[in-house]
Amino acid sequence: MKKSLIGYSRNQISDLLLSYGIKEKDLKMRITQIFHGINYRGFQKIDEITSISKNLRGLLGENFTLERTEIKKELISKDGTIKWLLSLEDKNEIETVYIPEKNRGSLCISSQVGCTLKCSFCHTGTMPLVRNLTASEIVAQVFSAKDKLNDWQKNSENRRLSNIILMGMGEPLYNYEEVCKAIKILVDPEGINFSKRKVTLSTAGIIPMIERLGEDLGIGLAVSLHAVRDDIRNKLVPINKKYPIKDLLSALKKYAKSNQSRKITFEYVMLKDINDSLSDARELCRIISGIPAKINLIPFNPWPNNQYQCSDQKKIRAFSEVISNAGYSSPIRKPRGRDIMAACGQLISESRRNNRPLQGSINI
Ligand code: SF4
Repeated sequence: MKKSLIGYSRNQISDLLLSYGIKEKDLKMRITQIFHGINYRGFQKIDEITSISKNLRGLLGENFTLERTEIKKELISKDGTIKWLLSLEDKNEIETVYIPEKNRGSLCISSQVGCTLKCSFCHTGTMPLVRNLTASEIVAQVFSAKDKLNDWQKNSENRRLSNIILMGMGEPLYNYEEVCKAIKILVDPEGINFSKRKVTLSTAGIIPMIERLGEDLGIGLAVSLHAVRDDIRNKLVPINKKYPIKDLLSALKKYAKSNQSRKITFEYVMLKDINDSLSDARELCRIISGIPAKINLIPFNPWPNNQYQCSDQKKIRAFSEVISNAGYSSPIRKPRGRDIMAACGQLISESRRNNRPLQGSINI
């Protein structure tokens, strides 16, 4: 079976070309031509990379392909949000969501099939971890979206897909190497060239990897905080038992210092009578003081058989007011794609939704 060249780094392309006997003096140019053809022009066939010789295209075509991941289903919400169910080569499935907004469009991509973390408010958390995605499978989600949106070869001012959020299925920092590799490809100036300021990784708070992330990538960081007390956060985000709030916040302070005080986004899901009191809001401001931050308040998005309810609108507004009076930006996120189960925390693979067996799930 042919391998996908999607998600191939410059180094990998270099190794490949050397193995074909490409001379050192031509190497840099050939790598750029191939990388550009795949990641900027968005070619779907190796034969379309006409900047390289027919002979080289033939060699690449013998073992490699630029075929896309199969889109098994496309759902379009009445608010314009689009959810794609992608079927991977091993028949596992992941979901990717495009959220169009005024003057920008964000793609929420997955990093794992399933998730180990079992956050109790999150539908994906009901799935066992099946496996990590490869860099190729992570980048391929962006390729599928760009194909569908007809968004190749556009500059940053006129593209429909302007922002990437690693907030789909999975904990990206538990798949660090592949996620890193994928992001480096996505921000490469010869490729799609996403600005690092427009790529955000969301984590439940895997402390040891946060420091590395700052050093390696310098992209935006979002943290799923969701509670201000350990006893509550232990239930909502069970990894808190390993990485409690105090330790997490001190890691984030260090991260902020070493990342030129770039704002960290705290995600806070609003759950009725669980974490939504005004004293929670005041405590939130107290514990994050000293961290350049923005707090995204996320009205809870329900899913079948969950145990939570969304806080009342009035309460969410009052919560937001306390935070903004303390000097933090605290937008209330407008639920997007709820009617197609594409909103934050609602993603789950189709097979799981229909109770079909997953391919090779790992029980941790
Ligand atoms: S919120 Fe994120 S980390 Fe938690 S279970 Fe859901 S996908 Fe996993």
